[in-house]
Amino acid sequence: MNELNFSGGPGVLPAGVLAEAQQAIQCVPEVGLSVLGISHRSDWFAAVVEEIEHNIRRLLGLPQSHALILLQGGATLQFSMIPMLLLRDSGKTAEYLRTGYWSSKSIPPARFEGDVRVLWDGEPSGFRRLPRPEALHFSPDAAYFHYVSNETVEGIQFHDLLGLEGVPRVCDMSSDFLSRPFDAARFDMLYAHAQKNLGPAGVTLAILRRDLLEQVPAGIPPILDYRAHLDARSIYNTPPVFAIYVVLLVTRWLLHEVGGLEQMAVINARKAERLYQVIDESAGFYEGWALDPADRSLMNVSFRLPSPELQADFLRQAGEAGFSGLAGHRSLGGIRASVYNAMTIEAVDALCDFMRRFATA
Ligand SMILES: *Cc1c(COP(=O)(O)O)cnc(C)c1O
Repeated sequence: MNELNFSGGPGVLPAGVLAEAQQAIQCVPEVGLSVLGISHRSDWFAAVVEEIEHNIRRLLGLPQSHALILLQGGATLQFSMIPMLLLRDSGKTAEYLRTGYWSSKSIPPARFEGDVRVLWDGEPSGFRRLPRPEALHFSPDAAYFHYVSNETVEGIQFHDLLGLEGVPRVCDMSSDFLSRPFDAARFDMLYAHAQKNLGPAGVTLAILRRDLLEQVPAGIPPILDYRAHLDARSIYNTPPVFAIYVVLLVTRWLLHEVGGLEQMAVINARKAERLYQVIDESAGFYEGWALDPADRSLMNVSFRLPSPELQADFLRQAGEAGFSGLAGHRSLGGIRASVYNAMTIEAVDALCDFMRRFATA
């Protein structure tokens, strides 16, 4: 029997997508070859990349002012590529929010390229809360402003747009991209690797305003230069064809089966609400990680139990009951139920039942 996959990433994918991917490993009918052996220079693959772009533009309503590029190196490489493009030689300061594990990782690579100001640091609160917008004092002449929309490890998420008009707004959306509608055109650059909501690991999607590429500092190796990837239509070097094909299947699923991001957001909110309800009704047995419910993530539901022993027992029994991937991130411990797009309501209900039974046993 398949386990129910609540892993923080790589995460669950839609069952129908997995079935199609399985078939494509044997043979992509219109090509007559396994997807694992189709050239990235084939017309078929060019059409795959084109349809991904088309589907994502449709899902987001993304205008042509913004380019879409498929990259490698994960979100982690973006932590370096962004300051190389926007901070190097700018004479300006980049502004970052430090709200958890992943935004903390995003800051040191930027310091190689220039001055960085951390506008708000969540460490004193143990990364258990997010700043209120009025606590953020943005500078109108920053090189750019960078934040992480959903802190995957802690399970805290911004539910509104941040930043100052006129300052490039850059966002790591790795763990909540395509989970809800948002105004993508208001971001100068956003990026998300695949393995949380979009597909398998190996591909990272970047969306950026084309005019950011008009002034690229000298000395950037071509493989780290967005222009090289844009000019080569995302095949500057051999890309992960299989992973990209699965991303295509996921975008088709979102468009044709889910029916778009409004519908996806309704389903995602329902899943998270049910889990948080179990937490809130447990009389403190389950303690949510976010101190303020307004900061709770709809993608990663993080909580702990009254003792490490109970936590270990919870994980053991959950494992026996077929729930996988519930252990919190190694840096944080606790429990984390990741309920990415492809996680079904039925699976969430099963977990809620398990949690209620465990709390009263
Ligand atoms: C998982 C994650 C990353 C790391 O991505 P890699 O693909 O491993 O480089 C970065 N940012 C966020 C928000 C994540 O959830």
